[in-house]
Formats: sequence, C-alpha cells, structure tokens
Amino acid sequence: MNHPLGNASEPLQVRGACPHDCPDTCALLTEVQDGRAIRVHGNPAHPPTDGTLCTKVSRYTERTYHPERLLQPMKRIGPKGAGRFEPVSWDEALDDIAARLKAIAARDPEAILPYSYAGTMGQVQGEGMAARFFHRLGASLLDRTICAAAGGEALTQTLGGKVGMKVQFFAESKLILIWGSNSIASNLHFWRLVQQAKREGARIVCIDPRRTETADKCHEHIALLPGTDGALALALMHELIRHDWLDHGYLAAHTLGWEALRERALLWPPERAAQVCGIPVQQIVDLGRDYGTTRPAAIRLNYGMQRVRGGGNAARLIASLPALTGAWRHRAGGLLLSSSGHFPVDRAALHRPDLLGTRRPRTINMVTIGDDLLREASSGFGPKIEALIVYNSNPVAVAPESAKVAQGFAREDLFTVVLEHFQTDTADYADYLLPATTQLEHWDIHLSYGHTDVLLNRPAIAPVGQARTNTDIYRALAARMGFGDSCFGDDDETLCRTAFGDTVPFQTLLDQGFATLPLPDAPFAQGGFPTPSGRCEFFSARLAAQGQDGLPDHVPNHEVPGSSTAYPLAMISPPARNFLNSSFVNVKSLRDIEGEPLLEIHEADAGARGIRSGDVVRVFNDRGSYHCKARVSLRARPGVVNGLGIWWRKLGLNGTNVNELTSQQLTDLGHAPVFYDCLVQVAPLTTKAA
Ligand code: SF4
Repeated sequence: MNHPLGNASEPLQVRGACPHDCPDTCALLTEVQDGRAIRVHGNPAHPPTDGTLCTKVSRYTERTYHPERLLQPMKRIGPKGAGRFEPVSWDEALDDIAARLKAIAARDPEAILPYSYAGTMGQVQGEGMAARFFHRLGASLLDRTICAAAGGEALTQTLGGKVGMKVQFFAESKLILIWGSNSIASNLHFWRLVQQAKREGARIVCIDPRRTETADKCHEHIALLPGTDGALALALMHELIRHDWLDHGYLAAHTLGWEALRERALLWPPERAAQVCGIPVQQIVDLGRDYGTTRPAAIRLNYGMQRVRGGGNAARLIASLPALTGAWRHRAGGLLLSSSGHFPVDRAALHRPDLLGTRRPRTINMVTIGDDLLREASSGFGPKIEALIVYNSNPVAVAPESAKVAQGFAREDLFTVVLEHFQTDTADYADYLLPATTQLEHWDIHLSYGHTDVLLNRPAIAPVGQARTNTDIYRALAARMGFGDSCFGDDDETLCRTAFGDTVPFQTLLDQGFATLPLPDAPFAQGGFPTPSGRCEFFSARLAAQGQDGLPDHVPNHEVPGSSTAYPLAMISPPARNFLNSSFVNVKSLRDIEGEPLLEIHEADAGARGIRSGDVVRVFNDRGSYHCKARVSLRARPGVVNGLGIWWRKLGLNGTNVNELTSQQLTDLGHAPVFYDCLVQVAPLTTKAA
C-alpha cells in the first residue's frame, strides 16, 4: 500500500480520523515534513470536530514516535509474563505462528481464539481482514461485549437499534440530562454543544455517582448510587403520569406496552426511588417536573450507567422516557446513547462469515476470559483454549477479575500472539509480539457512535520501524496457512471501499475526508422506530420470547451497595481524564498529569478509616487487593469510592489495577461486564507524615 507522501520540504497535511474508543470520532489533519509526522490537529472543515482535539490525541506524535514503540517482531525468551523477548525476523515469526496454528487447527480450530476490541475503531484494521482469517480458520468466535453490549441491546429492544438524536441539535435543547457521562473528559465536542445550549438558557443536569468535572459545571448534580438508574427512571415516569405531563397522542400512535409500563411506574413513587438511589426525594420530584414541563428536553446517556447487573433494563427505561413526553417530536428532543446503528456498514462483505461454510464454532464471551482460559475441555465448553491471538486489546489490564486473567495468560501450554504498539501488560505474556502500525501509518474507514459522519483515514507516514498493518499480518498468515481465497488479496483501500459499498460516496471521502449520512433531523418525530412493531417498544416480545421480562424494571446489583458488612463501599472505576481505557497510560506527558493510581474517597468514609489524602491504601474484596493513593475528595459521594482507571497493572503499586477487584458476573441484557457493580473495603497501608 502506498502512502501519499515522499520527501516534502514543506509540511503536507494528510486527512485522517481518530481511531480511539470515543464517541467524537474526530477528523484529523497530520502535518508531515520530510516523511515525519510533526503535528496532529483537528480538521476545522469537519463540523463535529471543529478543528479541536482532546489533549490525548493532540499529542499523537509523542505516541507514534514513543521511544518504547515496538519496532520489530519479538519472540519470548523468559517465562510467561516476564516480558523478556528477543528480536526475530518477520518470516521467522510468521512461519512459526502459522505452523503452530496449523497444528492446533488440525486437532480442533475452535481451540484457537481471537481476542480484540476497540484499540482501533477502524472497520479495516479492526476486523476487516482479521474476521476473514478467523472465519476461514474456523476459530472460536468472540462475543465482543466488554463495553457497550448491555446498552446496545437495550436500545435495540426499545428503539430498534443504536439510533437516536443527531448530536448537533443538543445545542437547541432547553433541558439536557447528562446521564452517566463525564462529557468534558470523554465526549468533549458534545460538551461544546451543551455550552451553547447553556448560553441560550438551557438547564443542564448531570446524573452520575461521581461528582465529575462535568457535574461541576452543570446546574444540578444528582449523585445516585451505582446501579440505581432504573429506579430513578421509573420514579420520573411516576411523576410524569401523576401530573399528566404525557403526550397521549405520541403514546397511542408510536409506542407498544404503555398500559403495562404505566402500571409498573406507578409502583415507584419518588420516596421509594429516593431510598434505593440514596438521593433526596425532592431531587426526583424537581427533575420529574423539569423533564415533564420543558420542551425540547434531551438525554445524553452514556455507557457508564450500564456497567451493572441491571444495566440493560435501566437503559431500556431511560430510553423509554422521551416517548412518554413526545420529546422525539422535536429535533432537539429525545435521547442519544449511540448513533452507530445509523451507519450502513456491509459487515457480510467485510467480515465474510460465509467463509465458515457449514461450521458453527462456539462463542466465547470476552468478559469471562479469566475463567475460560482456566477451563479444561468439556462437552459443554468444547476444547481447551490452546492459542490466543490478541489485537486491538489489552485484556490483562482491562478484563474483569484480572488475577484470573493473568493466571490464564501465564499458562505455559497456551500459545499467545499479540499485535501491539507497546509492551502492555498483555504483551508481557506473548510468545510472539508483533509490531503494528498506528493510525498515522495505515488506511482505515470509520463510523462514529457520537455523530453521523463516515470518516476516511489515509496514511500520513510510512510504517515506523518494521511495523506492519493488522491487515497485512493477517494476509501474511493466511498465505502461510494455505488459504487461497481471493478475498485475502484485497488491499486496504479495497477494504475501505467495501465497508460501506455504494451507500457512502467514496469520492467524497477521498476529497474531504468525511461524508455526512443523509438522515432526517428528527428521526422519530412521526414514530417509525426500526423495531419489529415500528413503535418504541416498552414491551419487547423478543425479550419475552427469551424468557426475560418483556417490560423493563429496576434490577438490583449483584453486589448491592450497603448489603455487606465486610465490603461496605461500592466502587466504580471511571476513566482517568487523560487516559482512554488502557491507552495513553504510557505517554509520559499524559501520565505526568494523572500522577499515580488514585482512589477518590469521601471525607466521611476516609475519616471513619483514618485515611488522609496521599495515604497509600489497600482496596480489597474476596477477588483481590489493589494498592493506590487515596484522595479525600467531594468527587466521591458517601458510600462510593472511585478507582480511576485504567492504569497498567505493572505501573500499580502492588502490580495490580482496579480490575483486580471487579467480577466476571454479567449484565441482564447483552452478556456484558459489571465493572461498576463491585463492593470493596478500603484500609490504610501507610500514613502520610503529618
Ligand atoms: S479521543 Fe475522542 S476527542 Fe480525542 S481526538 Fe479522538 S475522537 Fe476526538
């Protein structure tokens, strides 16, 4: 694949897209001089980005040319997990990997497992060629649930897909509920729209257990207990019903199951919800009044709230609210959790599931990788996992109950290949560590889950060192495995063109770097939800057919706050502002801002334990123990501690991170993780000198 630049004496600007797991999907401009990227900034021509990037990605050249960047293939020379490697040639690495995979596949290809997520959100360097390879191989399938599956399934069951308001119209809203989102840290360009709305007189309410930077700047902060969002939504419905702040016409014409939902909501007066949520009754009453009487009212929901046992039901309840008031009638009313369902990606053409033929491999849930790596073969489970190919993910740091994950990766009989930019916690366990290109070095094409533009990413520079694209690595492996199918010959530009077929004008993407989907401004003003009934489905016959409650309800946590004397504190683990999941933790300038792994704790909980800011504390439960510094802070509400993540384990004080404490339990919908459904105790380890 040619990159567009030779040696230029004047800086050239190359259009691209931010690949990170963030709803903003910014359009990038990379300045290149003499073949080297010298600066990355936002593309001012792209309306959702408006020329601005977050701090993390504005330092992208620091990441690309990082002194610890992996530049050549490496082979393990020490014990598993020791992180000791020696350089090898690409041919040696690929020949040996292919030989090992062939031998395992000859016994049972399902003993091979791909493991990937959103290290890049690109359709090409994500699963573009990888899915073809693993389908052709007949490897186990991976259920990619680790972030958004509960909320995604909730939207699908309620609205018919991951669809919602067009983000730009939040600027015209008169009431905005920012529900489970620290927008300033993780949805920066949305926050710009909120500020516009605020200047025009909108009221802004933040609903979040943590007093975030975003909560600081809202008119009101409702600091409910983790996992109680569904109870709050039911009580809001109760208030809408009691005061008849309902759009009866919209309910009759465009919803399904209203009478049943009405009966359920009437069981949730504000007094009951206030007790469950741990907030004042009056806050619920006031919020119900504001939501019932303000037009247009919009909800920006984010994925934090669905990382609990009842996350799917709670997201269903919240996604139902706009239909009660008819908020969807206005383009500045309704709800946005994700816009990704609006994008017409041709996944069959890209991923080629037809390469499976008649085979139907088992599916492994990425959330339970800790347990699954430790399972023996059985009739229920299938073959023991013998090989793991990890790309675009760092499971040893990000998967729950990480002591078990690390134990599984440490198996001497597990053959592990990791495609990476850096020697992460997961890379330490690799048998082969393969250097992958960054976004500045390859082609890709992107949808967004925050706005509704498709973006094309062109390579700005040649691959650094011996790095190769993910696609190229899978092509090379396919050739060595003897896969002769012509689809393995597709180059990356062809894959970019395949992703959207004729539905998005590729020439527009080549010319300006992005193309806006033609969507109505108010997608559900006249109903027309993409559900089986065409209505907003309060009642889901599909869920009922699966044996679930067809009507959403408050589902308490697996680990209910206040239910354990041994572990009296609830812990959530929101991202530190300058990290994105476990990415950027090794970028020194960003890590310097974050300082060190931190636990925010309320002064009442700290005082009861003799903890002061700066003390090293032990955070623990039956699953493990995590040592970090305490910060006594009003960002934590009483009874809830905030373990900011996600630090690499090897940078932790005792070689662990917050996921040492999180469990492998699953959500009610979507088989997703419950990172914020976690009880702990905190004790001082050392006390800072007075
Ligand atoms: S991480 Fe988000 S805000 Fe930052 S550049 Fe990427 S898309 Fe934009």
